[in-house]
Amino acid sequence: MDLADGTAWAGVLAQVASGWLVADLITALVHLTLDKLWGTRCQHWPFVGRIIREFHEHHDSPELMPTRGFWASSTETVAASLLAVGLAFLGLHWLWGTVFLGTALCQEVHKYAHRRQRPGWITGLQAGGLLLRPQTHAGHHDGDFNRNFGILNGWSNPLLNPALALGERLFRRGKLS
Ligand SMILES: [Zn+2]
Ligand SMILES: [Zn+2]
Repeated sequence: MDLADGTAWAGVLAQVASGWLVADLITALVHLTLDKLWGTRCQHWPFVGRIIREFHEHHDSPELMPTRGFWASSTETVAASLLAVGLAFLGLHWLWGTVFLGTALCQEVHKYAHRRQRPGWITGLQAGGLLLRPQTHAGHHDGDFNRNFGILNGWSNPLLNPALALGERLFRRGKLS
């Protein structure tokens, strides 16, 4: 790709923006799955068990997770992203590179949506909607933990929230039970 060409930069930007949306959708689907996996056996599964416990602990005590360091909550997401890059050999591709970067950093970004103290550039990226806004994520914690599952930027919420609300309505009416 010749980046001296303006259209090439537009292509890169389109891929990075798409990757940032896909990454948020992945975090939302994984978050949704982990929130709903709360059987006694699931909590002790290797690799994901700790993350499942952390998500549920986070619902009960949202102030705890933001006090932890980067590796305490992001080891698994970084490992999974690096593994995916290694397996797919897609790390240099703009779209997938952005997806893997976003999913690797999602828990750190999530923590900044809860922290009261944050660097100005993080607040700026949140205000611009590139990182998860605290008020957007509050919609997950304020309700029944049934909406706003995206924890990278929340871009997937307008796609996923209506589908989940419809699924819940149909389930309540007994059409899916
Ligand atoms: Zn949750
Ligand atoms: Zn949270």
